[in-house]
Amino acid sequence: MLDRIADNTNRLLIDGHRTASASGGTFQTLNPATGEVLATVAEAGVADIDAAVRSSRAAFEGAWSHMRASERGALLLKLADLIRRDEDELVRLESLDSGKPVSAIRRQDLPAVLDTLTYYAGMADKISGQVIPARPDALTYTVREPLGVVGAIIPWNFPLMIGMWKIAPALACGCTVVLKPAEVTPLTALKIGELALEAGLPAGVLNVVPGFGKVAGQALVDHPDVDKVTFTGSPVVGRQILQGAAGNLKRVTLELGGKSANIISSDADIDAAVKAAGSGIFFNTGQVCSAGSRILAHESVYDEVVERLAARAKSTRIGDPLDASTAMGPVVSEVQMQRVLNYIDIGRNEGASIVTGGARRGDAGYFVEPTVFAGVRHEMRISQEEIFGPVAAVIPFKDDEDAIRIANGTVYSLAAGVWTGDIARAHRFTKKLKAGTVWVNTYGPTDIRLPWGGSRDSGFGREHGDAAIDNFTEPKAVWINTGR
Ligand code: NAD
Repeated sequence: MLDRIADNTNRLLIDGHRTASASGGTFQTLNPATGEVLATVAEAGVADIDAAVRSSRAAFEGAWSHMRASERGALLLKLADLIRRDEDELVRLESLDSGKPVSAIRRQDLPAVLDTLTYYAGMADKISGQVIPARPDALTYTVREPLGVVGAIIPWNFPLMIGMWKIAPALACGCTVVLKPAEVTPLTALKIGELALEAGLPAGVLNVVPGFGKVAGQALVDHPDVDKVTFTGSPVVGRQILQGAAGNLKRVTLELGGKSANIISSDADIDAAVKAAGSGIFFNTGQVCSAGSRILAHESVYDEVVERLAARAKSTRIGDPLDASTAMGPVVSEVQMQRVLNYIDIGRNEGASIVTGGARRGDAGYFVEPTVFAGVRHEMRISQEEIFGPVAAVIPFKDDEDAIRIANGTVYSLAAGVWTGDIARAHRFTKKLKAGTVWVNTYGPTDIRLPWGGSRDSGFGREHGDAAIDNFTEPKAVWINTGR
């Protein structure tokens, strides 16, 4: 057990200090691979959120606003150096807390964290306004000003990476951040907060307050001195956040769920398509907002796709996330495991057939077998609702119009993939698919330079790239009267 609360490690990080919560409350975070207690963590309550917001406000108006933009960028680069230095510890902590395989964290999460920091560090001193000549008798221009105090609320599926997607651009823009990690994965956020202090970020620029959504998360959303909430999580909570944010009309960005379609046309490279479809749904045990959870296969290749996908599922190496050869770990919690198993039952009862998987693996930890459903109809719940687990629904389609109708026929619009050897067909699909990202002959990559986000129940707003700068700044128009 990493029970280091006694030596301060798992306390809240507020105003540069590790502190117990005002109420003295704590909660436990479990290791999903074993179900055992991993650590006891201080639990932020309403008073702690208030203290964190006040600290972030003071830092925003004080030290942080007096710093040159290039210095802010340099501090972000220093933070990246410290993350590299402590990479082994971060990888282990993230794996123990979330169940993610260390191999995946090293290959994907950590490089994305460093890329994000480097990208926004470079952008910090390139955020500028414009001179817009509106009148002959005035100099008119805009400046971009940081919004202020940002509440960042993140989920448990990519704690380090999604945390950094929010922290790095907010800090680069000159905002300060109160970060509320998910209650099931609080540990790496605290470590990042500590490294930020070591890098030289002034106290209060990044406060980290683990706690429960309904208490700590809600308090952050309701707080009248928070200027912006950036949220990644479920559509249900996204709606609650919008309501809370109405109090002081704070700005909101919502990155929510998905039920993404991965379309395999008859002219696709079936080998490549099935390989990517497998990782598209089984990567991170299916706990990915853009998971290709609906695999749409043309009826002429349907049986082949089902068979090959099932073979891939069966050969997935499931096991101890700390073992470098493990490809798939457990789901994050017992609640999540029950939710996934419940959806498997729903699929069975709806008449879909399980080709492989369909059960819990072992009785220690929260492992679920990679599962492939065939004979899935579009209107079934397993085809409409986000399961957030290693469960693929393979759906046949007749022609391109049919594929587009099915792909667009859920409440979500986050991502979609299409596999075809015909460039014109690929363009027709990219035009008609309702999604924030469309992948052609690939599935799943993201890059900090490209906008990321969705619409409808997948939320609104975009992260990454320039879009994130707009998220954390606002323009001010200035008029200088140059007339006599
Ligand atoms: P969740 O909505 O239950 O929790 C997300 C965060 O919100 C947690 O930190 C939680 O403590 C907090 N929270 C819960 N209730 C709150 C409230 N009333 N007020 C304020 N905060 C509250 O989601 P989850 O189960 O952690 O994550 C899974 C969901 O996240 C899935 O729907 C998934 O698709 C989505 N997701 C989306 C993206 C994306 O980029 N679009 C990325 C990852 C995950």
